[in-house]
Amino acid sequence: MDYQLWIDGAWAETSGGQRMSVENPASGEKIASVVDASRADVDRAVQAAHRAFADGRWSRLTPSERSLAIWRLADLMEKNIEALAKAESLNTGKPYSFVSLGADMPFAIDNVRFFASAARDTHGYSAGEYAKGFTSIYRREPVGVVGQIAPWNYPILMAVWKLGPALAAGCTIVLKPAPGTPITSLMLGELTKEAGIPDGVVNIVTGGNDTGQALVEHPLVRMVSLTGSSGTGKKIMKTAADTLKRVHLELGGKAPFIVFDDADPEVVAAAAKLASTFNTGQDCTAATRIYVQKNAAAAVQEAVVEAMRGTKIGAQFEDGIEMGPLISAIQLERVSGFVDRAKSGGAKILTGGGRIAGSGYFFEPTVIAEADQKSEIIQSEVFGPVLSINTFESEDEAIHLGNDVVYGLAASVWTKDIGRAMKVARELEFGTVWVNDHIPLASETPHGGFKQSGFGKDLSAEAVGDYKITKHVMIRN
Ligand code: NAD
Repeated sequence: MDYQLWIDGAWAETSGGQRMSVENPASGEKIASVVDASRADVDRAVQAAHRAFADGRWSRLTPSERSLAIWRLADLMEKNIEALAKAESLNTGKPYSFVSLGADMPFAIDNVRFFASAARDTHGYSAGEYAKGFTSIYRREPVGVVGQIAPWNYPILMAVWKLGPALAAGCTIVLKPAPGTPITSLMLGELTKEAGIPDGVVNIVTGGNDTGQALVEHPLVRMVSLTGSSGTGKKIMKTAADTLKRVHLELGGKAPFIVFDDADPEVVAAAAKLASTFNTGQDCTAATRIYVQKNAAAAVQEAVVEAMRGTKIGAQFEDGIEMGPLISAIQLERVSGFVDRAKSGGAKILTGGGRIAGSGYFFEPTVIAEADQKSEIIQSEVFGPVLSINTFESEDEAIHLGNDVVYGLAASVWTKDIGRAMKVARELEFGTVWVNDHIPLASETPHGGFKQSGFGKDLSAEAVGDYKITKHVMIRN
C-alpha cells in the first residue's frame, strides 16, 4: 500500500517530497511506501494545525466535548484492533500475540481512555485576592500548535502518548512518526476524523530527520515533544532555542537492575529475561545492567543465563514466540558492534553474542560478564536483548554503580528488606524505580527521565499539564 500524508482531515499528496519504503524486519521485504515529507508539506500541516488552534474549534470546546471525542477514538481503536495490531506487528516484527491482546494495543486503548478522562480534570487551580483590591484567576490554557516526533520502538503507543495528553489539553498537533514505522500513526490519523475530532487538529506527516528538523524550526510551532535518543534530544533543544519553543524530551535509558542477596534467583532471572528481551530489548526502560550482591552472584548469574537461553524467538505470526527481530539492518549492525567491542575489550559472553542466521534481523539474547564499569557496553544504550552482569558488596556501592551513567530513566531494586528498598529507591536518580519488578506501567503513572534521559512526563495527568500554560488574569475589584 502507498500511503499519503494526513493533513487537515484528509489524505494529501506531497509537494516535492520523495517516497520511502517501509519493510517487515522479520524478512527484510518491503510492505508499503510512505512520503518523505518536504518542508512545504510540513508547512502545510503546521498551517492547518495553526488555523485549527486559532479558531478554537478544539481548544474552546468544553472539556466534556473534547473528552467524548477522545473516548470515541479509543472505541474506534478497539473496533479496529485487529487491523491495527496486524499492521503494527508486520511493520515492527513484534510478536502478534503481544501487540494484539498481550500488551501494546490494550495498553494504547487504555491510555487514550485515561486521557479522555484527564481532559475533564478540575483540580488545583484557584482564584483569590493576593493583592489588596484585586482578584487573581489562573487560567490553564493549551500551549498551541505542538510538533511531536516519535521513535520506532513502540509506534502506536508512542503516537498515543503524544496525541493523548496534547488533545486532552486542547492543543493542535503535527505528529511525525519514525521513518521506518509510520503505518499505525497514519491509521490513527484517519480514525481521529471518524471520532469527530475536527479537521486540522491532528496532522500526521511522515518522513526522516530532515522532516523532523523542519517541524522543530517552524515558527508557528509552540512546543516540540520528542521521544527518541539523547543525541536527537540535544539537537532538537538547540534548534528549538532559535524560536524559544518549549521542549519535552523522552530520551534514552540504561536501566540498572540491582539484586540484593535476599532476592529469589529464579524470580529475578525470569524478570530479568522479560525486561531485557521484551520488544527485543528495544525499550528505553529495558533492564540492561544487572548488579548482584557478591554472595548471591553465582546463583543469580546461572539462573539468568538459563532463562535467556530459553527465550523463544521467531517471526511475528509464529505461535508461542517471546521475541522477534531487531527493527532494521542498521540496528542489527549497531547491536552486533556493541557486543563485538565488549568482547574484544575483555568482557566474557556467557550466552548469545551473535546474529541468528537467515533473513530478518534476529539477534541472540545475550549476557555479558566482567565488563568494566567505564566500558561502552555498560555506559551506552545498546537497544537490543543484551544484559551485563556485575557484582557489588555494599548498598552504597550498588547505588553508586546504578547511578554511574548519564541516563536516568528507569531502575529496579530487588530485595525483601523494605527499609533497604526505600533507601535505594530514594538514592537512585531515575524517573521510575521499581521494587521487585521491572517494566510495568499504568496510564495514571508518570513516565519520564532524569539527567540525560530528558524531562517532561508521558502518561498521567502530569503529561496533560506539560501541554498547558498558565495565564494570570488580575481583576481590579
Ligand atoms: P532517534 O533519536 O534516532 O529518532 C527519533 C525521532 O526523531 C525520529 O522520528 C527521527 O526521524 C527524529 N529526528 C532525528 N533527528 C532529528 C532532528 N535533528 N530534528 C528533528 N527530528 C529528528 O531515535 P530512534 O532510534 O527512532 O528511537 C530509539 C531511541 O528512542 C532510544 O534512544 C530510546 O531510548 C528512545 N526512547 C525513549 C523513550 C522514553 O520514553 N524516554 C521511549 C521510547 C524510545
